[in-house]
Amino acid sequence: MDARRRPPKPPLPSAARGGPSHRGDEGGSASSSRPLEPPRASDALPLPLYLTNAVFFTLFFSVAYYLLHRWRDKIHDSVPLHVVTLPEIAAIVSLVASFIYLLGFFGIDFVQSFIARASHDAWEDLDDDVSRGFVCTDIAAPLPKSVDPEPAISALSCAEDEEIVKSVVDGTIPSYSLESKLSDCRRAAFVRREALQRTTGRSLTDLPLEGFDYESILGQCCELPVGYVQIPVGVAGPLLLDGFKYHVPMATTEGCLVASTNRGCKAIYASGGARSVLLRDGMTRAPVVRFGDVKRASELKFFLEDPVNFDTLELVFNRSSRFARLQSIKCSIAGKNLYMRFSCSTGDAMGMNMVSKGVQNVLDFLQNDFPDMDVIGISGNFCSDKKPAAVNWIEGRGKSVVCEALIKEDVVKQVLKTNVAALVELNMLKNLTGSAVAGALGGFNAHASNIVSAIFIATGQDPAQNVESSHCITMMEAVNEGRDLHVSVTMPSIEVGTVGGGTQLASQSACLNMLGVRGANKEFPGANARLLATIIAGSVLVGELSLLSAIAAGQLVKSHMKYNRSSRDVTKVC
Ligand code: ADP
Repeated sequence: MDARRRPPKPPLPSAARGGPSHRGDEGGSASSSRPLEPPRASDALPLPLYLTNAVFFTLFFSVAYYLLHRWRDKIHDSVPLHVVTLPEIAAIVSLVASFIYLLGFFGIDFVQSFIARASHDAWEDLDDDVSRGFVCTDIAAPLPKSVDPEPAISALSCAEDEEIVKSVVDGTIPSYSLESKLSDCRRAAFVRREALQRTTGRSLTDLPLEGFDYESILGQCCELPVGYVQIPVGVAGPLLLDGFKYHVPMATTEGCLVASTNRGCKAIYASGGARSVLLRDGMTRAPVVRFGDVKRASELKFFLEDPVNFDTLELVFNRSSRFARLQSIKCSIAGKNLYMRFSCSTGDAMGMNMVSKGVQNVLDFLQNDFPDMDVIGISGNFCSDKKPAAVNWIEGRGKSVVCEALIKEDVVKQVLKTNVAALVELNMLKNLTGSAVAGALGGFNAHASNIVSAIFIATGQDPAQNVESSHCITMMEAVNEGRDLHVSVTMPSIEVGTVGGGTQLASQSACLNMLGVRGANKEFPGANARLLATIIAGSVLVGELSLLSAIAAGQLVKSHMKYNRSSRDVTKVC
């Protein structure tokens, strides 16, 4: 038995461990497989622990007994206590020495357990903070010195990666804290996926880890990364829109989609191109507030809708950003609850953060005049974000775009392999009547969301906003005595940006660059995001044209069987 055979203590986070000296444990298989313990001074003793303890215990109590006896005798013989003999001096020295030892062994251990517990608590406090989101925007910041006196885990070797993986698996180190703990995002992702594989027993070998800049997503795009998913990017084009040619990046795994969009581009190109108009540009956020009665809720509604008050509210709102410009506040009442739909332009940003900050400014300001206003939530769903809602379909949200093209009769025949009458009839019965029968909300189209989603993913937009961004009504009409086809798409709520969110990631940024809309437009703030919205509408137009043509010509199933059904037997692919 030796000092290492003390009863095991609960494993500590590395912050609470003793520092480099724990490396001594790595050599032995038994010790290396268990959590590391902090080193103790008694580890260095030459004798086995129990013998050393026995010696000092015996010494302490025997000399104490001896000295007490001597003092009793001295009192009895009336000898002054301070007159000491040589054996008494030796006994006092032994008493002090054994006391120091026992204090060192039990006392320091006792203190050590307190220090360790304090460090552990600090970790747990940090865990709580992160789980509550208090530090999520600053996850890369080094931990406070009192919590983590060893800043450089990143300097440790692979063997120590192994130790960290084990600590994540046994729960000693929380997975989400790896980035801040290691100060190396790639390594954090590596450790996390290793731990995940061990915990689940499932392999992540085919989920790539290398070749991705994990620093670029920290605190911005994705938490707890373990790799990245590869999505192929195809290109459709050139899309001739408003006199300019665009090569449109589409990230998709749906066979036929890029090919079909490409065919639509060809038809539009051959007909002289498409034209677009941006009807409106304003992101919305609608908080919900509650009053004691309907009268007070109505008073705030009238206050907000009174043009006299708009200038003040605008001033307060616009303080949130140099790009945020308040446009309108529309109110809706449900009993004593008031929903205020703020709309503002947001430059080249999609704008959700920006508009939310502006709304918060106004709510704080309103609280002065309406102290009885109870703010229930900064978002009350009248906005309406990432949900199908008539308000977006009717009022618009983000960019509202209408786009049209005139397709010549011969192009309809030669490129689209159908005829104008068949297309017009199909559009009427499918996109308009069929969608009405289905009770559609903004879904009066064939597959706008296919194109919207593919471009959203390629260019770093928020894919969840595909819900309302894909609202679209496709119209087809025979013109020029029925020979040519007029086709249009109207999309009231395309929510896109070219700064912020995923747009700054390398591959998404490259796709924006392909379209000439990367980043902020310095000269005309907002012009890049607006152009992106019109390109998306133009791409939806060509997508609608091509798919409807395929259906009208009875080609849909045939072409899907050709492009969307691999001849590989997927059951044999391991
Ligand atoms: P969102 O509001 O879409 O969530 P962010 O919160 O990331 O986007 O805001 C965009 C950030 O980019 C803001 O800090 C803003 O000041 C900055 N920015 C720089 N140039 C522009 C621009 N041309 N248009 C909009 N924002 C810009």
